Amino acid sequence: MGEIKMKINYEHIADSTQHFLRATNFENKDDFKGTPERVMRMWKEFFNVDSRDFDLYPIAATEKKGLVLLSGYVSWGFCPHHLLPVKYSFYIGYIPDKYYIGLSKLARLADYKLRTFPLQEDLTVSITEKLNTILEPEGYACAIKGYHLCSAMRGVKGREAEFYTSCFSDEVIKNEILSIMNLSR
Ligand SMILES: [Zn+2]
Repeated sequence: MGEIKMKINYEHIADSTQHFLRATNFENKDDFKGTPERVMRMWKEFFNVDSRDFDLYPIAATEKKGLVLLSGYVSWGFCPHHLLPVKYSFYIGYIPDKYYIGLSKLARLADYKLRTFPLQEDLTVSITEKLNTILEPEGYACAIKGYHLCSAMRGVKGREAEFYTSCFSDEVIKNEILSIMNLSR
């Protein structure tokens, strides 16, 4: 992939955190000393990833392989509407035809997409689009369960609810993934 180039002004992140503390009257309290810089460093860690970590390197397949599935991979992202954390569980799979990739690459694909603060619906579709483009597989699947702090922290109903989104190339792979996820209806 390699195209992850986040142009981020980290000083502005520290400034805006300072503004937030001023707005909420926490600015001069002891516990908040150094918070703007700490918050800035936290975001630096999140965004400062080597784009080469996300290259997928498809390998030519010499023999038939069955379903390849990353099951229940947990990774954290942020929702674009509230900038609050979302805990995602990913089920990403494909049935190789001409190419395959290492299993860890499926996790990296998810991590890569999370750096763009996607809506969960778009995240699901964009992962399958990427799989389809680079692997031209026989089938592909992406199902995601998301625990959104923006809804868990606010409101009364559905506090513990997870949001489920999915995108499947066909019924066969869909049924297999759903039975693995224990969500078959
Ligand atoms: Zn949200």
